[in-house]
Amino acid sequence: MRLSERLIRDGKLDKKELSLLLSSFDGKDLALLSEEARRIRDKEYGRKVYLRALVEISNHCRCNCLYCGIRRDNRTVRRYRLEDDVIIAQAELSYSLGMRTLVLQGGEDQYFSDDRLERIIRSVKEKHSDMAITLSLGERSEESYRRLFLSGAERYLLREESITKRHFQMLHPEGQKIEERIRCIQNLRKIGYQVGLGFMVGSPYQSDENIANDIILISRFAPQMVGIGPFIHAENTPFENEKNGSLEKTLLIISVLRIMRPKLLLPSTTALGALDPRGRDMGLEMGANVIMPNMTPQTEREKYNLYDGKPHVALESAEEIKKLEAHLTSLGYEIARERGDSHEENENYRREYV
Ligand code: SAH
Repeated sequence: MRLSERLIRDGKLDKKELSLLLSSFDGKDLALLSEEARRIRDKEYGRKVYLRALVEISNHCRCNCLYCGIRRDNRTVRRYRLEDDVIIAQAELSYSLGMRTLVLQGGEDQYFSDDRLERIIRSVKEKHSDMAITLSLGERSEESYRRLFLSGAERYLLREESITKRHFQMLHPEGQKIEERIRCIQNLRKIGYQVGLGFMVGSPYQSDENIANDIILISRFAPQMVGIGPFIHAENTPFENEKNGSLEKTLLIISVLRIMRPKLLLPSTTALGALDPRGRDMGLEMGANVIMPNMTPQTEREKYNLYDGKPHVALESAEEIKKLEAHLTSLGYEIARERGDSHEENENYRREYV
């Protein structure tokens, strides 16, 4: 029996088996897993695609992640920060286009203090209490996470990047530690956030065993969301000449995660779209159920270059939403004009893991 068939039968594989599947899968495995992942997603969430309005609030960053295009030491980046009222205006626009989740993402930029973020979050929530707010602003103190939660943010994306200590360290400078990252992730859960983990597929020095470790972490921690995308090299970074991650492997992992954790919210990420114009569609075919349209204002969008060739597609008008809708309809999906919370309850996990 194939490992993919075992996964479909049992809903899980152990670490050894996962790493073997990752190193030996073929087209047949992809087809089998994709069919099962779609079936599970359709059963759990239907054919709805949840939209998350992504606003990239700043490309200033104090971190120096070796893979990232906006790392501190990249002097060629034209740095920007969005004004508070611009962020709020983008939230309004996204709301008026039917989106019910706002994602504020950025580099680790101290300009975005707790006070400032609190004002922004409160002001969005005051106008639109039915809009969920997700933050993706890297590592902050427990106190800071708590304040932002109490002001109305309910979800937080913080990819672990690699749970294998040795590998994490090969991707980050010495001062950045996996232990600290995990502490942040635990704090987020303790406070009550819906948490998103994730990692890049095909990052330098990554082995299939490393990936298997991250999949096992995800199946144990049971986050509400997981962001998976291929590594794509970025100019003017230490990894600028490294090769890109594989599209097929990324797709395989999306389906594996859907099968192991049916209730996950899984975005078909921008990075998938960067490798192939149909990348995002393929993500949906492999069991993803979230798309994050870029709602950063046009003038700044091209400065948030995490990697080379990042698509700068956005949804700026009702017309563009209609186009996306027509496209998704042609694939048999519909846009969900709702918050789209995960079916994973937070409470269960607090009991299990804290
Ligand atoms: N600063 C925040 C959020 C911005 S980066 C944070 O670190 O959490 C969001 C994600 O983009 C990162 O978690 C990383 O996995 C991904 N990313 C960064 N550089 C990338 C690259 N070169 N290729 C693909 N993904 C990348």
